[in-house]
Amino acid sequence: MKTTVCAVICAAGKGLRAGFSQNKLLIPVNGEPVLQKTLSAFDFPLIDEILVAASAEDTAEITALCAAYPKARVVLGGSTRSESVYNALQQARADIVLIHDGARPFVTRETIEGCIQSVKTNGSGVCAVPCTDTIAVGNAGKLQSVPDRETLWQVQTPQGFYRENILYAYTRAFENGDKSYTDDSSLFSIYCGKPTLCAGALDNIKLTYARDFASAAARCGFGVDTHAFGKSQDYITLAGVKIPSETGLLAHSDGDVLTHALMDALLSAAGLRDIGFYFPDDDPRFKDASSMELLRTVLTLIDERGFKPKNVSIAVQAEKPRLARYIDDMKNTLAGALKLDPTAIGVTAGTNEGLGYVGEGKGITVHAYVLLENK
Ligand code: MG
Repeated sequence: MKTTVCAVICAAGKGLRAGFSQNKLLIPVNGEPVLQKTLSAFDFPLIDEILVAASAEDTAEITALCAAYPKARVVLGGSTRSESVYNALQQARADIVLIHDGARPFVTRETIEGCIQSVKTNGSGVCAVPCTDTIAVGNAGKLQSVPDRETLWQVQTPQGFYRENILYAYTRAFENGDKSYTDDSSLFSIYCGKPTLCAGALDNIKLTYARDFASAAARCGFGVDTHAFGKSQDYITLAGVKIPSETGLLAHSDGDVLTHALMDALLSAAGLRDIGFYFPDDDPRFKDASSMELLRTVLTLIDERGFKPKNVSIAVQAEKPRLARYIDDMKNTLAGALKLDPTAIGVTAGTNEGLGYVGEGKGITVHAYVLLENK
C-alpha cells in the first residue's frame, strides 16, 4: 500500500520580528505572497495533503490562497506554534507528516523528497545544515564555552515523522502541560528517541526580519527607448527637465525618451508588460501626456507587486543638445519621483562620435537599468 504524506505548514504566526503590521507570510516576495511560494513548493505528486495552520484573523485570506491548491486546506492554529501543529496533527490522515515553517518559501523538491525518504528509512528526517559560524554559550555577558563546531547543526524544516509517533509526542507533551516547543525535533527526541538528521539547504532560509524580505526579492530590469527629432518646438524633455533644443522629439506623449526607458526597466524588473501596453500611443488620454505623470502610475504598479526601486542607472546617447549641465537637475527630479537619494540615481550622457542615426543628430536613444527590492 502506498505510504501517504501530509505537509503541515505553520502559518499562524504574527511575524512580529519582521516588524510588519500583518502576517509576514502574506507579504509578497518577488510579487507573490510568501505562503503561496511555500504552498507551491509542496504541490507535487508525492504529497497527498497540505494542512495550513492559520490564525482566526488570517483564515479568510489564507483560505483564498489555498483555493489554487486542491490538496490544501486550512486548519485553525493555536496561540503557540506547538498548539497549531498539534491541531493540525490531529486532523492529518496521512502516514507521514512533514512539519514546515510557512516562512521558508525557498525549500526545494529535492530537500522535501530527501526528508520523506529519511522518514521511510530511519523513522524520521530533520533537515539541517552544518554550522559555519562559531557558536558560543554565554551567560551574563560572559562567554562560557565554545562547543566543537563539527558537532553543531542549524536545524531547518521540513521535519518529517510518522504521524502516529509525532502525534504521540505532542499528546504526551500537552498532557504534561508543555505547550511551548518551537521545534518538533526536540519534542520528538524527548518522547520518541533521537531523530535522524537529513540534508537541508543553505537557500532554505527562514524569512524572519524585514531585511530578509528585502534581499530575498532583489530584481534587476532593463529598458531602452529611441525618439526622433522633428517636432516644432525649441526644447526636449528628459526626466521631466526642459532642455533647449533646435527641435523637439516626435512622440504621442511629451517625448521624454529617458523616462520611457526608465519606465520599461521598472516594469520589466517586476515582470510586468511594457509601457506600450499600459499607455497605448493611439489612446487620446496619453496625447502630450507628462511622462513623469505616467512614471507615477508605473511606480504604483510596481508597488502593487511588492517592489520599490533601490537604484537606477541611465545612459543617454545624444549628439545634441549637450546635456552635461542638466544632469544634476535630471538626477534630482528622478530622485524625488522615485523617493530615492540622488546618489542612487546615475545618469550619464555621451555622443555617438558621428556614427549612425544618433551621430547624425536624428534622434536620441536611452538605456536604463534598475534594481528593485522588496518594499
Ligand atoms: Mg517612447
